[in-house]
Formats: sequence, C-alpha cells, structure tokens
Amino acid sequence: MEDSYRHKGLRKQLVNSIRQKGITDEKVLKAIESIPRHLFIDSSFLEFAYQDKPFPIGSGQTISQPYTVAFQTELLELGKGMRVLEIGTGSGYQASVLAEMGARVFSIERQRKLFTRTRELLSKMNYQVKTFLGDGYEGLPAFAPFDRILITAAAPEIPQALIDQLKPGGVLVIPYGKDDVQQMLRLRKNTDGTMSTEQHGAFRFVPLLGELGND
Ligand code: SAM
Repeated sequence: MEDSYRHKGLRKQLVNSIRQKGITDEKVLKAIESIPRHLFIDSSFLEFAYQDKPFPIGSGQTISQPYTVAFQTELLELGKGMRVLEIGTGSGYQASVLAEMGARVFSIERQRKLFTRTRELLSKMNYQVKTFLGDGYEGLPAFAPFDRILITAAAPEIPQALIDQLKPGGVLVIPYGKDDVQQMLRLRKNTDGTMSTEQHGAFRFVPLLGELGND
C-alpha cells in the first residue's frame, strides 16, 4: 500500500492534464490528487496508473480513464453527505473519489470476482463505501432514495428502477446508447417527478451486463 513521492508527483501531473482538458471542479481535482490510483490496478502495471487512459482490471472490464471519472463526477454536482448510488463498482476507484468528496456511497457490481476483490481493497484502504453484488438495473430499493445516481457502463436504456430510486431534485448521470459510442446524459428529477435531460458529449464505455445489456 505504498504511496511514494513519485506517485504523488505523477498524480499532480495527471491533475494538471485533466484540468487542461476542461475539468474545473476543484473538489473533484483534489480527490483525484489525493487517491493513489496505482493501488486500484495490478501492481505489475504501475507505469500505466497515472496516464489519462482506461486500463484492464480483469473479467473483461476496465478502470475508467481519469478524465472520464472526473467528468462524470463533476456532472453529479456532489455535496458532502449526499447518498450516491454507483452502478459498476469495477476497481473501486470511482467509488473512492465519491467517498473522498464526502458522499455516502453505495456501489453495485454484477461480477463476483470484481466485487470480492474490490470490497477487500476498499476496506483495507479505509474508504467508507457500501458494496453490493447484484444487478445495477434494479438499483438498491432497500437503500433508496438517492441524491445522486452514477452509471459507469454503457446503458442501452435508462432503467426505470433507477429513476424511481432518485430523490426529487436528484441527478442521474449515464452513458446512454446501444452503439460503441454513447452520449453522456445528465438527468434531473423535477419536483413534480418529471425528468429534464441534458447531453454532455460522446464517450466510450464497456456495456452494462444483464437483461437489457449484453451478457
Ligand atoms: N467504476 C469503475 C471503476 O472505477 O473502476 C469502472 C466501471 S467499468 C467501466 C464497468 C463495471 O460495471 C464493470 O466492473 C462491470 O462488471 C460492471 N457492470 C456491468 N454490468 C453491470 C450491472 N448490470 N450491474 C452492476 N454492475 C455492472
């Protein structure tokens, strides 16, 4: 669990490059600067940890590119103490960014291997993230409602269960689309229960697995 001066220096450079690409939320940048991303990927690939690129984490999945993590987090407009549901725990890095920013994080992973490994890592690193093995399409009705919901895999549909589990005034961020490239959407639940949608550009994610996605 070493976090050396070299790692910290590389993180500063990473933060500068993300800032240059347009991320302005200082709370997001500060979280990325403090979290040792190298601990979330296989230790034989240390040199890739602080490049602004996605990286394989096993089970056919990836840890998202740091810029994408920052972009999705910025769209969430996170406040301290908010209840946040993440779909797709993966390596646990995104969940740690949310926790570092003071959110109460609930994260669902569909694949047991990743779930088990990441749960252990997050607990060793002392991040207060509640992890669940399950299908993100269903959300976590027992823990709803959430202030924020973040989907970190490509979704061919916007799951109604997740909209139902969002508080009025809440925000859901989702890479939406059936093709190789998705549109990043930010949906806001109005007080009358209707949804407003904004588009925030094209991104490339691995698809959600399950009933509606590919398995
Ligand atoms: N947020 C992750 C991180 O910080 O490393 C990266 C997420 S990775 C791009 C997508 C993750 O979603 C994978 O771990 C995958 O197994 C998971 N996933 C795919 N379909 C899912 C589903 N239906 N429910 C929950 N997790 C799912």
